[in-house]
Amino acid sequence: MKEHKIRAIVWGCGQMGQIIIRYLQEKGVELVGAIDRNASRVGKDAGEISTLKRFLGIPIYHPDKAEQVFQKANANVCIICTRSLLTEIYDSLEMAAQHGVNAITLGEEAFYPWTTSRDLSEKLDTLAKKHNCTITGSGYQDVFGGHLITSVAAASHRIDRIQILTRYNIAQYGSFALDLNGVGLSVDAFKQTIATSKEPFVNWYVNEWLCSRLGWSIRTQNQELLPTTNTEIIHVTSAGIDIPVGDVTGMEAVVTTETEEGPIIESHLMGKVYTHSDIDIYECTLIGEPNTTLTIRQPGTPEITCASLVNRLPQLIDAPPGFQTTDKMPSPNYWTLPLHNS
Ligand code: NAP
Repeated sequence: MKEHKIRAIVWGCGQMGQIIIRYLQEKGVELVGAIDRNASRVGKDAGEISTLKRFLGIPIYHPDKAEQVFQKANANVCIICTRSLLTEIYDSLEMAAQHGVNAITLGEEAFYPWTTSRDLSEKLDTLAKKHNCTITGSGYQDVFGGHLITSVAAASHRIDRIQILTRYNIAQYGSFALDLNGVGLSVDAFKQTIATSKEPFVNWYVNEWLCSRLGWSIRTQNQELLPTTNTEIIHVTSAGIDIPVGDVTGMEAVVTTETEEGPIIESHLMGKVYTHSDIDIYECTLIGEPNTTLTIRQPGTPEITCASLVNRLPQLIDAPPGFQTTDKMPSPNYWTLPLHNS
């Protein structure tokens, strides 16, 4: 049991950051700083704009003032919910490490960055070790793309193939996510731009994480980006647009990994703007002996994302210094007590 509350800075107070701020309060974590670059948020109280809807006396500062926020906050954790790629979140991870503050991010690449951004990951690893703190990536994939699957794998005698299907409503995330998934493009424009992108998509890192945790070596890994369309006009409230019939409502990223040991991992991640009948889906099938399918009907994807990160905080603080991806950490936990007592 630790004497002092965990003291957290939240860097990125958008859709996810606003849920996380409430979860921190409800788990006994003290918010001691908030940073965001969006002009509509800078200067506002972080508690008031969050889903807590309560004044916390913590103003949101522009990243230009991040140095001052760190100096004043005496934080032991920084939670980064801004962007997905290591190049995009590097500065924030670097600043946290330079102040000896443990950092955890929703940035999807940080879940397993060792092949796609090896140099940056090693640089951060060295910096974190020098300043005796830990960096990691968490979020939805920590449990649903990782530990849930490896737990089911532990009940298998032989695995030939792992198939994962996740579908989520892209409109529940920031507007950049709509652009990333090609929402509103014609199918032709999608094929000429997004589909030809060589940038690994989110499930790329999930497949690599699974191979690392299961002790498999990757022989080949391929990605296909496919548009999703609809037969009715869809209004996207957050972006104020109507998507005409036949235009792109999102995409399905399919990443297939062949391993030296034989098993194949095939992950499908579909982010699209929903019609009234769409629901979130999670399904994972392990084919081998036995065949096992795990289906979770209508998972609360944003809440799962934020709870997975917040529940990682005690293990982040206790982890050895360096960039420690969660494949090297203990299985995630649900904590009943305030997090500093866990
Ligand atoms: P969001 O609503 O757009 O919130 C992000 C906020 O961070 C925005 O206010 C944005 O400002 C701000 N921001 C961006 N770069 C910044 C920087 N360098 N310094 C300070 N503020 C910055 O997005 P979200 O839905 O919360 O998602 C946040 C990130 O988490 C995304 O990369 C998303 O892909 C990722 N994510 C991961 C998971 C997971 O399970 N791992 C799940 C959901 C989301 P602007 O609006 O001005 O850009």
